[in-house]
Amino acid sequence: MAKVLVTGGAGYIGSHTCLELLNAGHEVVVLDNLSNSSEESLHRVQALASKTLDFVQGDIRDQKILDQIFQTHQIDAVIHFAGLKAVGESQQIPLEYFDNNIAGSISLFQAMQRARVFKLVFSSSATVYGESNISPLNEDMPTGMPTNNYGYTKLIVEQLLQKLSAADERWSIALLRYFNPVGAHKSGQIGEDPQGIPNNLMPYVTQVAVGRREKLAVFGHDYDTPDGTGVRDYIHVVDLANAHLCALNNRLDTQGCRVWNIGTGNGISVLQVKNTFEQVNGVTIPFEFVARREGDVATCFADNTRALKELGWTPKYGLEDMLADSWNWQKQNPNGYRD
Ligand code: NAD
Ligand code: UDP
Repeated sequence: MAKVLVTGGAGYIGSHTCLELLNAGHEVVVLDNLSNSSEESLHRVQALASKTLDFVQGDIRDQKILDQIFQTHQIDAVIHFAGLKAVGESQQIPLEYFDNNIAGSISLFQAMQRARVFKLVFSSSATVYGESNISPLNEDMPTGMPTNNYGYTKLIVEQLLQKLSAADERWSIALLRYFNPVGAHKSGQIGEDPQGIPNNLMPYVTQVAVGRREKLAVFGHDYDTPDGTGVRDYIHVVDLANAHLCALNNRLDTQGCRVWNIGTGNGISVLQVKNTFEQVNGVTIPFEFVARREGDVATCFADNTRALKELGWTPKYGLEDMLADSWNWQKQNPNGYRD
C-alpha cells in the first residue's frame, strides 16, 4: 500500500480517484486550492469510503506548502490533477493557464525532487495528438500542435516530463492521455460540478435534463461521420480513476516515462449520446443544430491496447452506465455541491 499525494483531488476526476485509492487501502493526502471545486466532494469521498484522508488547501505553485506536505507525510507517489482545464478560457487568459498548468507543475516536480519522491502519474489529454492523426489514436503517433492554449500546456508538461526522466533515471512517470471522461460514482454522491455554463457535452446534457438550460446546441451536423455529428471516446470516470491505480502500481516498481491512452476505444456521436441519454433515463433533451465549434475535430477515439496489455486495466462501464450515472448525480444534486 502506498501513501499518495493527489493534487487537484477535490475536483471531478480527482475525487473519484481518491475514493478508489481509499477503497484499495492506500493513504491519501490531497492538495487543492479549491479554485474549481468544493471541499464537500472530499467529505463525501470519506463518507463513501468510511475512511479519512488528509486535506491541505493550497496551491501547487506554493513551494512552502509543498515542502511542508512532503516533510509531514512519507509520500510514495504523486497523482497530479491540479490545473485549469477550460479550453475557451485558455484563449482569453493564457498566462493564467501557463502559470497554473506549466509553472505549477514545475513547482510540484521541484518539490518532489527535493523530497526524493520520483513516482508520478500525470493527467494528460488526447488533445496532444493534434488534428492530423487519424483515429483510432495510438501512443506511437506523433503529437501535434494543439489548437488551444490549454492543450498546449498539456503537451509542454508531457515534454518536460519526458526530458526530466531521460536526464535522471530515478524518475518513474506515467502520462495518461484521457479521452472524454463522463459519468459519476454509482451512489450519485460525487460527480462533475462545472462552474458557470458547461463547455463539455455531458454536463450540458444533464443540465438541460434537470431544467437549468433550455436546450442543447449540437455543434455541427455536417462532419464526415455516420450521422454528421462529432465522434468522441467517452470513458466512465470510475474506469478512469481505476486506470490511475493501475498506473500507480505499474510505476511503483519501474523507471522511465511511459504514455498510455485511457479511453474505451469506442467512437460515439453527439446524437448517439443525446438519444441514448433519453432512452436510458426516460427524459427528453430539446436540441438544435448550430455551427461547428472552432477547433473541434470530427472524430477522436483511442486505441487503448497498450493500457489493456501493460496496465492490466479494463474499462467496465458502457455508454448506458455513463449516461445513467451522470443523470443520477445531476438529479440528486441539481446545483452540484452548492446545495
Ligand atoms: P477539475 O477542475 O474538476 O479538477 C482540477 C482540480 O485542481 C480542482 O479541484 C481545482 O480546484 C484544482 N486546482 C486548479 N489549479 C490549482 C492549483 N494551482 N493548485 C492547486 N489546485 C488547483 O478538473 P478535472 O476534470 O477533474 O480534471 C483533472 C485533470 O485532468 C486536469 O489536469 C485536466 O486538465 C485533466 N483532464 C481533464 C479532462 C476532462 O475532460 N475532464 C480531459 C483530459 C484531461
Ligand atoms: N458538443 C456539442 N454541444 C455542446 C458541447 C459539446 O455538440 O454543448 C460536441 C462537441 O462538438 C464534440 C462533442 O460534443 O463533438 C464532445 O465535446 P466536449 O467539449 O465534451 O469534448 P471535446 O471536444 O473536448 O472532445
